[in-house]
Amino acid sequence: MEEIKSLWGKVLTKLELKVSTVSFELWIKTITLLDYKENKTLILVASSKTAKNQLIKNHTGLLKEAISEIFGDDSDFQILDADEKEVYLKNLNPSQLNQSNILNKQEDKPVFNQKYTFENFVVGKSNQFVYAGARAVAENPGKRFNPLFIYGGVGLGKTHLLHAIGNYSTLHFPDLKIKYVTCEKFTNDYIESMLSKREESKVEFREKYRKLDILMVDDIQFLSKKDSTQEEFFHTFNDLYQNSKQIILSSDRPPKDIATLAERLESRFASGLIQDIQLPDFETRIAILRKKAQQERYFIDDEVIEFIAEKIDTNIREMEGFLSKVHFFATLLGKKTAGLDEAREAFKEKLDTSRENLTIDLIIDKVCNYFNISKTDIIGKKKSKEIVEPRMIAVYLVSELLDMPLISIGKHFGGRDHTTIIHARDKLTQQVKVNPTTKTIIAELKSLIISN
Ligand code: ADP
Ligand code: MG
Repeated sequence: MEEIKSLWGKVLTKLELKVSTVSFELWIKTITLLDYKENKTLILVASSKTAKNQLIKNHTGLLKEAISEIFGDDSDFQILDADEKEVYLKNLNPSQLNQSNILNKQEDKPVFNQKYTFENFVVGKSNQFVYAGARAVAENPGKRFNPLFIYGGVGLGKTHLLHAIGNYSTLHFPDLKIKYVTCEKFTNDYIESMLSKREESKVEFREKYRKLDILMVDDIQFLSKKDSTQEEFFHTFNDLYQNSKQIILSSDRPPKDIATLAERLESRFASGLIQDIQLPDFETRIAILRKKAQQERYFIDDEVIEFIAEKIDTNIREMEGFLSKVHFFATLLGKKTAGLDEAREAFKEKLDTSRENLTIDLIIDKVCNYFNISKTDIIGKKKSKEIVEPRMIAVYLVSELLDMPLISIGKHFGGRDHTTIIHARDKLTQQVKVNPTTKTIIAELKSLIISN
């Protein structure tokens, strides 16, 4: 396997000489080699969808040439983006997994993302306590807070902090055995060990997870309902805990909201530390964007940084994605520094894509789910209060959120006349003004629909 990795290194060296520095840094260096199949096909993963498109559009020929030179004429390659990578991994059945060359499986030595360090983590009001907790644990594994439980919304830095602990420990305590897994990986590992025909594989699984000094499980909320996986997790947890080994868990919600976990581990959490990451305030968002721009060597106007920090306030990952898009637009135009024009352009594109995903069916579905009624009822003829109200709300939301003629809205709602639609819309508009409950319901539904 090492050999394949070093061959891939040679491909990169060849390509570096043939493409511009910018292309190399942006698109090629960031490729990871995921798998090398028996039929000599390299499965490559691009760093983003844009990167994939760029590679396919501009560099297919060169990639093919360099790969054939190093891996042989009959070799081939395939480029995946992150989503396709997940699908690829999921579609491998256990028997394939055993013989597969999946390079990522070769990770007994943990590889932490070098960018996710404590130094690169911007500390603000929203995350100062969780940062302090993570640092204390990194500096005194197994001694200070055990377990450490970090929770918070998507894209707010949970994985970053876990990797920061990993990077810190690898550097300062090189002898410690550390393992970082996503909950999904833990589950897959366990299931694989159960399915394996080799009797030793179950023992190997236990040894792998119980002979650790630090175990981190990311996104523990996915701890599957498969009872045996849960059971195994609790055994692992207790075993490590009793031996004063550090356990670090992350989740999108507090432990009390993960039913099984709360029941089984409540007493354990008493001696640990539960910390949440909140939404970053404006200043912290600005500081994060500046740091990111500096790291990636993007030249970005200050007003662009502010523009982004104002527009995106609930997800740092999204903010970063947007920043790199603005940078990308500027490079396309051959500009050295990205300005407000590129930012507005990128924002327009973002709005367009979210609008494209917004359909009348989606709105109706969300309203039905919210009120727990069926689609047949909401577009049907029933006149009971439980149905009429949600129906009017759905009509109102469709007319508010979509640019759709009233007649077509009427058609979607079981062929109703457009005057009926106007009536429903106006009645709701009025209610939103006078009735706080209706107002809250509408706000909640809107956020459910838009965040979809
Ligand atoms: P989560 O695991 O909570 O969904 P991540 O840890 O993956 O979120 O963070 C998303 C992105 O935001 C990462 O690129 C991470 O480096 C960045 N990020 C989050 N919080 C901070 C912070 N305080 N300072 C710098 N970067 C951050
Ligand atoms: Mg994460």
